[in-house]
Amino acid sequence: MTKLTDLTIHEALDGLKSKKFSAVELTQAHIDAMEKHRSLNCYITETPDIALKQAEESDKRYASGSALKMDGIPLGMKDLFCTKDVKTTAGSKMLSDFVPTYESTVSQNLWDQGAVMMGKLNLDQFGMGTANVNSHYGHVVNPWRAKDNPSKEYVAGGSSGGSSASVAAGMCMAATATDTGGSSRQPAAYTGTVGFKPTYGRCSRWGIVAFASSLDQASLVSKDVKDAALMMEVMSGHDPKDSTSAPIDVPDFTAMLKQDVKGLKVGIPKEYTVDGMPSEITDVWNEGKAMLKAAGAEIVDISLPHTHYALPTYYILAPAEASSNLARYDGVRYGLRVDNGGNLDAMYEATRSEGFGDEVKRRIMIGTYTLSAGYYDAYYVKAQKVRRLILNDFIEAYKQCDVILAPTAPGPAFAKGENEDDPIKMYLCDVFTVPASLAGLPALSVPIRLNENGLPLGLQLIGRRFDEQTLLHAAFGLEQQAQFKDKPFGE
Ligand code: GLN
Repeated sequence: MTKLTDLTIHEALDGLKSKKFSAVELTQAHIDAMEKHRSLNCYITETPDIALKQAEESDKRYASGSALKMDGIPLGMKDLFCTKDVKTTAGSKMLSDFVPTYESTVSQNLWDQGAVMMGKLNLDQFGMGTANVNSHYGHVVNPWRAKDNPSKEYVAGGSSGGSSASVAAGMCMAATATDTGGSSRQPAAYTGTVGFKPTYGRCSRWGIVAFASSLDQASLVSKDVKDAALMMEVMSGHDPKDSTSAPIDVPDFTAMLKQDVKGLKVGIPKEYTVDGMPSEITDVWNEGKAMLKAAGAEIVDISLPHTHYALPTYYILAPAEASSNLARYDGVRYGLRVDNGGNLDAMYEATRSEGFGDEVKRRIMIGTYTLSAGYYDAYYVKAQKVRRLILNDFIEAYKQCDVILAPTAPGPAFAKGENEDDPIKMYLCDVFTVPASLAGLPALSVPIRLNENGLPLGLQLIGRRFDEQTLLHAAFGLEQQAQFKDKPFGE
């Protein structure tokens, strides 16, 4: 029999309904995996007691025939989502003792449908990073190992490295993530999982620790496209508590997953080929095109002429918003306070020096600079204008196609320790994910195959605003062709 930790959510829901196993058994199997794989450092806080209690409630509902949509499904929660009475650190020292008195809307939506909380997942501090090496709680380790050196540890992507590694390792069935510039898609590509960021506004941001508010979007990591659709149906919806959440209905995201992709027009942007990109990325991209074609799609060449400016634009706007959002951590209202016996200014300085890691400080400094009176027009306003041009490129492109196919990342997962001394190299890993973020578009990464060295490679699909159905439909078509079945740990 398949191990319980190998099941997808939709398979597990079938098993629970037909009483093949109980929610408590399913949860216990994931708790065992969480303990077994602690060395991957996926969880900042484990909550097995909460999980088992929730699972017992689920079993009662299954017994009485009143099961909910996600009943008994063990999930990991990225530690950027506030969870009532459960510590929420944002991966930082600043919030190392922060216990929220409220629940984020997205996590509440999941609990309301019977989901089970395994714990709070590791991440780069405040979501800032590409490899989950910027966490106050240590690096996350990718469960995948390369063939040429199985003892070498690889990064799990970032900032949602805890989410991607825990799903890949079977320590939860799916996980929430957040995606500001690629944080669900890129970690998914590095770990052979699905990473899905919906349209900006599809999910509420209420109760998610803010990084860059005009880009932050609740997202997820799952084992397959159907699970991604199921999860997103529960996570999304209008929330009066978030004025940027869209007052539109949530469609049935799973409805189109059964059809083939006949007639779907898939755009291939010529600008998504970057200097020095490894040939394996070009190869897998070509294979993806061929797969969608084989499934009945029509491939069209498109152009997104401002792509080249997306990365610098993102790295001006995201730090600008971060510098403003993170001004709230002043040692007075909540979080860490370092009182060094000096005056108020000295307390601010000591608190922020100790509470924030290097990458967070770097971004606060860049953001403060680009927002300062002398440079505001030259950097911040200019970047806002370029952001609009990037969105216009997509609007033009979608006159010719329904979805866009591109690489997710410019390479597979890299070894732990690599790129760490060079922030620019880290930022370059986001080159293919930030354009959709700047344009607020839904995007998804699907695992395609392993490279020659045994590491996963993924491809990204980008959809029209609020057209997650077509995006998921295309992703399902690609997934059916790719048939990615490999598992880490050589299992
Ligand atoms: N890697 C990007 C950054 O460092 C994106 C992170 C994210 O989406 N949270 O900002």
